[in-house]
Amino acid sequence: MRDSFHRQITYLRLSLTDKCNLKCGYCWTSFQHDCPAGSAENGRLGEFTSFGYAERLMSVRAAAKVGISKVRLTGGEPLCYSGLVDFIADVKRVPGIEGVFLTTNGTMLADKAADLKGAGLDGINISLDTLNRDKYKRLTGFDMFDKAMGGIQAALSSGFGKVKVNVVLIGGFNDDEIGDFVNLTRDEPLDVRFIELMPMTGSPLFGKEAYLSGRVVLERCPDLKSVGMDDPSSVARLYALGGAKGRVGLIEPVFSSFCDKCNRLRITYDGYVKPCLHSSDEYSLVGKSEVEMERTIRNAIDAKPREHGDLRCLRTDIDGVTTGGRSMRRIGG
Ligand code: SAM
Repeated sequence: MRDSFHRQITYLRLSLTDKCNLKCGYCWTSFQHDCPAGSAENGRLGEFTSFGYAERLMSVRAAAKVGISKVRLTGGEPLCYSGLVDFIADVKRVPGIEGVFLTTNGTMLADKAADLKGAGLDGINISLDTLNRDKYKRLTGFDMFDKAMGGIQAALSSGFGKVKVNVVLIGGFNDDEIGDFVNLTRDEPLDVRFIELMPMTGSPLFGKEAYLSGRVVLERCPDLKSVGMDDPSSVARLYALGGAKGRVGLIEPVFSSFCDKCNRLRITYDGYVKPCLHSSDEYSLVGKSEVEMERTIRNAIDAKPREHGDLRCLRTDIDGVTTGGRSMRRIGG
């Protein structure tokens, strides 16, 4: 289905839980540790009762009927969701869904990667913002750097083809590691994607200097050459070092907005459709039948705003200028 600005909406980012086993400084509003590593099997952990497995699957069916063909499972940390493997297999069976992908911090992936592949998962993005163990602990609150690296290796060896590593660029924290991250692409089929830090609701830990333009990557690594984009709707501009197995992507929502080709819709862990990450507009799917969900999703697509406001007017000493209304982990990144 097309929205009022003729954008074809085909991509759903579906949050499975707001729970996470890390508490990255840019994502959390409060200190809470509700999914310790290894606890994903712990009963209903990660399940929100008013909008659970069945309702979430129904929302995918309804979304597919309005033209969604690609689903990315996110959170919170989707590996904190106890039904993840079954859910992937069920989503893969929904008519119209052509690809199912996962965004994870990777720390619980080593044991699960093969099962996820077996369930039909098409690809994995792993978030990793530093290559330094101490800094990882400082940013995430937990000493799990080795587990995250193990997750990347597991993804590489489980037949996912190219694995994407997402790095949120944070001035004064990891901009000194840009070259090291780029070098990861030389010998492994890894796409390292630098994402501009967005001033999200409830992420007041950073000052203005943290908000860097993705262009800084090209300034620091002049050997990177443009290799275009994967497809016209992709938000990552791609670059590569000569002879490298992987590529470098720049995702620039703050300094070079890509709203004109936004093809996304989000559904939060608690069952609200969000047509735009930076708008507080939400459409509830809770308690609705599949037909009602379909209607609600159509309404949400119709109401998708042309663009988000200017995220560069940073008042980050107080709060972000996003009007998204929820922290990233409660929206689904
Ligand atoms: N737990 C999973 C993970 O770590 O990938 C999935 C959820 S996380 C919210 C999804 C993505 O959003 C991560 O790549 C994370 O770095 C990114 N993210 C969260 N807050 C952000 C912010 N303020 N600016 C830019 N990216 C952000």
